[in-house]
Amino acid sequence: LGPTVVIGEILVEIMAKSRGDGFLEPIELIGPYPSGAPAIFIDQCAKIGGSAAIVASVGDDDFGRINIERLRSDGADISAISVSPDYPTGSAFVRYRDDGSRDFVYNIGKSAAALVSLTAEAKALFARAGHLHVMGTAFAIPGVWEMMDHAIGVIKQRGGSVSLDPNLRKELLGHGQTRERFARLVDVADLVLPSGDELSVAAGVEGETAAVAALFARGVTEIALKRGEHGATFFGADGTRLDCPAFRVAEVDPTGAGDCFGGAYVACRRLGMPAFQALEYANAAGARNVTLQGPMEGAASRQQLDEFIAATPRDVR
Ligand code: ATP
Repeated sequence: LGPTVVIGEILVEIMAKSRGDGFLEPIELIGPYPSGAPAIFIDQCAKIGGSAAIVASVGDDDFGRINIERLRSDGADISAISVSPDYPTGSAFVRYRDDGSRDFVYNIGKSAAALVSLTAEAKALFARAGHLHVMGTAFAIPGVWEMMDHAIGVIKQRGGSVSLDPNLRKELLGHGQTRERFARLVDVADLVLPSGDELSVAAGVEGETAAVAALFARGVTEIALKRGEHGATFFGADGTRLDCPAFRVAEVDPTGAGDCFGGAYVACRRLGMPAFQALEYANAAGARNVTLQGPMEGAASRQQLDEFIAATPRDVR
């Protein structure tokens, strides 16, 4: 029907080489790595195959260029990435704490990433798109809601579908308008890909079984639940449930696992694979990504995922 399209931030990520508890001391950094949840998602989609495109904005600088070059060479449609002459590409600095949690310092709000808007190129892309993937990370960007409304209208009218990764920051849900708009997105979503308690947040109901039922009652037809090191579960509106045990891997860098999982899942489903096979590839894409440093570095082709699946033991605890 047309490409899978995502809207949102393209960033570079620069990370501390060592663990610690903050950025107050001078630290050795590595990067820049291509990043931004929507960019990682669409890069993974493109690497699996099928057409994939992103609507985003970068600065006229090397940080923007490494992203555009990576996405282009991995097969993504970059026609709707605009280049701002005035603002730099967004960035994120990350440091892992000794306990494994992460500290981020973001520069998104005052970067080119915040300038994403409904350009003529974006309109043309939506007019031929078959699927929109919506990510909670993009909700803080000013023009994004209006663009999503436009894209959903156009794509649904063509018989296309919508997926939602509700990875939103909880403080955003405190705003009445955001809560209302988010609820509208849940209502139009065909597929929801929550992680942990995002399932309850998206459904507005506590408890896994009740939340799954509530989402189906609102028109969702499938749910791919991400469980981090515990793998993933598929729920179908017909009552099907498939549990996918995690691959046993040494975690090097967890950032981007959920985005690779989502990119692989959506791409595989749009290529016509059954849910169990898409879940298997998505589970592998998420697991493989955490074994590599850099948020987008683990985005994998189908062949790389087949090799990973053949070589990696399962966690059957
Ligand atoms: P993030 O926001 O950090 O990108 P997320 O919270 O959206 O991630 P996770 O549940 O952490 O998503 O990871 C997505 C998927 O990746 C999991 O469902 C699982 O399939 C795989 N995965 C993640 N971490 C691991 C791990 N340590 N071992 C094995 N598989 C993992």
